[in-house]
Amino acid sequence: MDVIQVNTASRPSTVYCGTGAFEKLKEESGALFVLTDCNVYKLYKEHLAAVCPGAPVCVVPAGERHKNVRTLLHIFDEMLAARLHRNAVLVAVGGGVVGDMGGLAAALYMRGIRVVQVPTTLLAQVDSSVGGKTAIDYGGVKNVVGAFWQPERVLCDPLFLHTLPSREIKCGLGEILKTGILDAAIGAKLWENKARLYELAFLEEIVADCVRFKARVVAEDETEQSGVRKSLNLGHTTAHALELAYGRRSHGEYVLIGMWLESFIAEREGVCSPAHAQYVRDTVALAEKRIPVFAGARQCVKYALLDKKNAAKDAVSVLLSAGKGEYAEYTLPAQRYAEYLSLLEARA
Ligand code: ADP
Ligand code: ZN
Repeated sequence: MDVIQVNTASRPSTVYCGTGAFEKLKEESGALFVLTDCNVYKLYKEHLAAVCPGAPVCVVPAGERHKNVRTLLHIFDEMLAARLHRNAVLVAVGGGVVGDMGGLAAALYMRGIRVVQVPTTLLAQVDSSVGGKTAIDYGGVKNVVGAFWQPERVLCDPLFLHTLPSREIKCGLGEILKTGILDAAIGAKLWENKARLYELAFLEEIVADCVRFKARVVAEDETEQSGVRKSLNLGHTTAHALELAYGRRSHGEYVLIGMWLESFIAEREGVCSPAHAQYVRDTVALAEKRIPVFAGARQCVKYALLDKKNAAKDAVSVLLSAGKGEYAEYTLPAQRYAEYLSLLEARA
């Protein structure tokens, strides 16, 4: 099992990656309160009962559309009903949605209780469970109400990956390929293993690499102030805009499409070389062979303008890959960004 330290200033956390990671929950001191969603509960009820017998379990509906204030209030109701004390531990067992909401509930309940993240999707294992970002969506804006709240531990157990539908694997691959574009060594490993990208044995291995990368970035820039953590937003301005406008594919797929589109921005705005832009597109193609066509894509500029990264009213900020291991934050007028979006509308 890989044990990775995330040395954040607010509170360091430890990530366990590998078979048996889930069992680490048995070592937790204090009362446990489990938060999970209905799908995960159905699949892993017995595992939960074996690892944390007798702990109250709050089961919420699955899916991003429930990552809202209503569900959050329901979680508080159940925490109060369980008479949860301030030294209790909230255990978030699920994908990114459960992790984000569980983290936020833990950050707010009694001004903050400990949280252990047990990510059960590939996306949550490689990305969202590490780094302490917690949030709900509100007013049509993704992750707009939230807090930084570091988990005490993150338990990435491959056990959970066996039941993931292929759509969810592809979703995680989106963030894995993003990491590969940001980190040359991970990128090389992905290319060397391009035939094994959907193999669980390979994914198990790459999860630890991605966590190690993210741990480094988060330790350097916990609250996205100095800049390095912003690099993790590669492809995300466009991904979030498309997600809000179309919302049928998974987050990771939109990230792939976002990186594809933003590689053209980087190339044509002179932020990266044509060869590097092509490398980004080829890397995306390892998982997304054909970029889908989005009718009316340029209308999505209105969603991109809602992004938290934007400083000015009529401009869109994107995070661009400038070279292997290099990135640049780039701001362009909304109109010009809309023209780039039209690349998604039709292709020869
Ligand atoms: P993500 O982690 O991709 O952000 P979600 O938390 O919405 O997203 O999880 C995606 C979907 O996968 C949800 O419907 C969730 O219930 C389901 N899910 C989570 N973990 C597993 C698992 N290990 N096996 C099968 N389905 C899972
Ligand atoms: Zn993401």
